[in-house]
Amino acid sequence: MDRMNRPTPPSTAYLDHLVAETAGRRAALAAAVPGDGEGARPDGGAPAELVAAVERAADELEPDLAEIVRRLHEHPEPAFEEVRSSATLVEVLARHGVEAELGAHGVPTAFRAEVGDAAGPTIAICAEYDALPGIGHACGHNVIAASGVGAFLALHRVLTSGDAAGRVPAGRVVLLGTPAEEGHSGKEVLARNGALEGIDAAIMVHPYGLDVADQVWLGRRLLTWTFTGRPAHASAQPYMGRNALDAATLAYQGIGLLRQQMPPVDRVHATIAEGGTRPSIITERAVVHLYARSKYPDTLRDLSRRLDDIARGAALMTGTEVEITWDDGAHPSLPVRTNEALTGRWVAAQRRRGRDPLPAGVLSETLAASTDFGNVSFRVPGIHPLVQVSEPDVALHTAEFAAAAATPAAVSAAVDSAAGLAATALDYLADAGLRAAVHEEFAAQGGPVDVVRYFD
Ligand SMILES: [Zn+2]
Ligand SMILES: [Zn+2]
Repeated sequence: MDRMNRPTPPSTAYLDHLVAETAGRRAALAAAVPGDGEGARPDGGAPAELVAAVERAADELEPDLAEIVRRLHEHPEPAFEEVRSSATLVEVLARHGVEAELGAHGVPTAFRAEVGDAAGPTIAICAEYDALPGIGHACGHNVIAASGVGAFLALHRVLTSGDAAGRVPAGRVVLLGTPAEEGHSGKEVLARNGALEGIDAAIMVHPYGLDVADQVWLGRRLLTWTFTGRPAHASAQPYMGRNALDAATLAYQGIGLLRQQMPPVDRVHATIAEGGTRPSIITERAVVHLYARSKYPDTLRDLSRRLDDIARGAALMTGTEVEITWDDGAHPSLPVRTNEALTGRWVAAQRRRGRDPLPAGVLSETLAASTDFGNVSFRVPGIHPLVQVSEPDVALHTAEFAAAAATPAAVSAAVDSAAGLAATALDYLADAGLRAAVHEEFAAQGGPVDVVRYFD
């Protein structure tokens, strides 16, 4: 008897996450303390006068933020081509006495501005501004840009002039203009060029159809399979051929069958980009493009390995060769690891604006996409909450959402987000207890991950 292979032991990664999350939710239930009314800061944070000063500054910036929302929306630019958009943002900053560095970290359409003392704690605010080819600001990154610039300018005012009592918080705020979120992992390019050096935490906000404090964002990798067979006359000598299209077809079916055993939040989607030239010739070359997504870094790594096995198995069955290419043209994106301690500050700040962000788990986690902020959030503690600009049933990346990203609701979302990001950053800088909680939580989640080598 000739035995080949043994059943592979299933990875316990997903199960381990479920067990840990259940334990975490139980602990959170036990620890939940009801707030005691309006404006309460029972657990510290920055002094109320300082917070009031940044929030007032954000309100006063409304005309500038409305201008950013409008001007970027009128001239949408895709990934790495945000020449006009980045220039607009740098111009608005300059109007308020802030000199930003355009072309920061080796990317021509990135920019960076700083305020405060680098000897103290440092928090970064990420501003995106790329659009989608063909449908413009259908992801609302014009609103993200206005929120980030607004938050930075509000903090700039308080960090340079202090509040009414002349109090100036310690620490530093860095505004990172991060191009090319859509499909090109611009933040990973910046991070590899040193953009996060000396930064302790990073925050941003994304527009959406609801206010949400914490939603699942899946890790994502790109994959290409190129199958190479032997061409032959499909009628006269088919036995002399080795069919690359058969390999692609079997691999595609293999994904379909794998879905039964995948963790429920894993995703694989594929296209067959090349499948031969003529029916009368056995296909020599077939190319399959895939995206693989998962909720955790380690389950994404598991999924990657199973996809490798599917490609190799299909090649073996068909007598073809397969070339497996991961992440060509874009870096892998890890999922977003949300910091709950920072999220608590964001929620408190949004409630002062009359918004009430939904906590994690209210929206289905199947409503999930991916973002290059994930890689930031595995290097330093971060948050990526959502702010409402449209009706709840309008999806991102649609013409309807693009229209919503230029409405008065988009402007008020930008102002509320600017105030919320600024207040969150201020709490982080001013409250050592909060900083300790943020970093203890980050360490308990596994600490920083070597993003560059994670999938090697
Ligand atoms: Zn998008
Ligand atoms: Zn987006």
